[in-house]
Amino acid sequence: MGNLVAIVGRPNVGKSTLFNRLTKTRQAIVNDEAGTTRDRQYGKVEWIGQEFSIVDTGGWVVNSDDIFEEEIRKQVMLAIEEADVILFVVDVLNGVTDLDQQVASILRRSKLPVILVANKTDNSGLYYESAEFYSLGLGEPYCVSALSGSGTGDLLDLVVSKFQKKTEEILDEEIPRFAVVGRPNAGKSSIVNAFIGEERNIVTEIAGTTRDSIYTRYNKYGFDFYLVDTAGIRKKNKVVEDLEYYSVMRSIRAIENSDVCILMLDATRGIEGQDLNIFSLIQRNQKGLVVVVNKWDLVEDKSDKLMNEFKSAIRERLAPFVDFPIIFASALTKQRILKVLDAAEEVYRNRKMRISTARLNEEMLPLIEAYPPPSIKGKYIKIKYCTQLPNTRIPSFVFFANLPQYVKEPYKRFLENKMREKWNMTGTPINIYIRQK
Ligand code: GDP
Ligand code: GDP
Repeated sequence: MGNLVAIVGRPNVGKSTLFNRLTKTRQAIVNDEAGTTRDRQYGKVEWIGQEFSIVDTGGWVVNSDDIFEEEIRKQVMLAIEEADVILFVVDVLNGVTDLDQQVASILRRSKLPVILVANKTDNSGLYYESAEFYSLGLGEPYCVSALSGSGTGDLLDLVVSKFQKKTEEILDEEIPRFAVVGRPNAGKSSIVNAFIGEERNIVTEIAGTTRDSIYTRYNKYGFDFYLVDTAGIRKKNKVVEDLEYYSVMRSIRAIENSDVCILMLDATRGIEGQDLNIFSLIQRNQKGLVVVVNKWDLVEDKSDKLMNEFKSAIRERLAPFVDFPIIFASALTKQRILKVLDAAEEVYRNRKMRISTARLNEEMLPLIEAYPPPSIKGKYIKIKYCTQLPNTRIPSFVFFANLPQYVKEPYKRFLENKMREKWNMTGTPINIYIRQK
């Protein structure tokens, strides 16, 4: 199970600079695709063979200069609830502020490992300034310069050393894991309740510590799967629920630990930025997807026309990935609840799909012959052979070409679309690689 590290601290101390440094990303702050700031919020780090996720809680604050104390308090509370290790960033150039002290007092009361990061220690002279942060009562300040990168390697060592050994839950690898995700009030708890009801005998809590136990086995009506993070769904935290990043923070673990994500949308609200943030998490983790348009009972004109309008609006927002099931359901009346599970199982099967090399070539080569990649600089590009890679998380295919570097994205997309027409791959992402023959 993955570890999650949260960066907290008041505005302008360098949280986002540190986040970029640690994730080695240099993305623009705003992601053009959807006009969201999602890439600033969530990233993956690999360090000495360990992969973990990292979240910049400041990434959610639009106007970070005018941030209110209350807002920071909520951020820190949420980080404490969801993260495994906290990086509390302070600014050596500024020294200890009131807000730093307030954050420290919350962190001191938590049981989580907290690393006090004295940022902007750009030279050794500043190193001595960092001593004043001892007064925050969180131990020795750890000096780094997020801007130059100095100290960040040692910081990562320290982070990794704080991860606690988690008791691995014993799960049946053959049984799919579904996560119900979505923004607050979309109906996640309601649909989970509709699935598992109050009948104790169909739900088995998996043994383990409270914090680690996030799977619930469901075995009824011919379905057999794990629901991921149902405890997190049931346990509500009123303090932070209204925050924009609440749903994202809450979703991270569930998504990372699932095979297929059931993304709940609220029919009365349509698709919004928060939904896109969660969708982006699902994509970046290469998980299967089923979209549920929930609260369909509240929609008066339930015509096919409206459904189709909904479908195209959703697909438009989630493009270029458009091949996934969309189910119009009601967690309240239980309308089409089993259909949701059917769809999730189908997506799970598609994710595991194997296509024999013979079949693949038989279907794809004539197509490629008829529509070859466009020649570049007078050079003909030939694809002679393709095959599926064994043991990958999602279906992954290699096409061998004489000049792989000239096969561009649009042609790969063409191949993907054709494969999706020929085989049922709905809901699962696939990889297409072009390699030298
Ligand atoms: P955030 O609001 O906490 O996310 O802070 P930012 O990462 O946006 O940084 C605020 C300002 O501090 C920016 O102008 C950064 O360039 C600057 N900054 C960040 N890290 C360092 C550092 O290590 N040294 C110096 N001198 N400036 C830094
Ligand atoms: P969560 O925050 O995503 O877990 O959402 P909840 O399951 O707590 O639902 C939020 C609110 O929407 C509650 O008042 C539910 O009763 C209501 N709700 C959930 N699903 C439906 C539905 O399908 N139809 C209607 N009419 N209300 C729903």
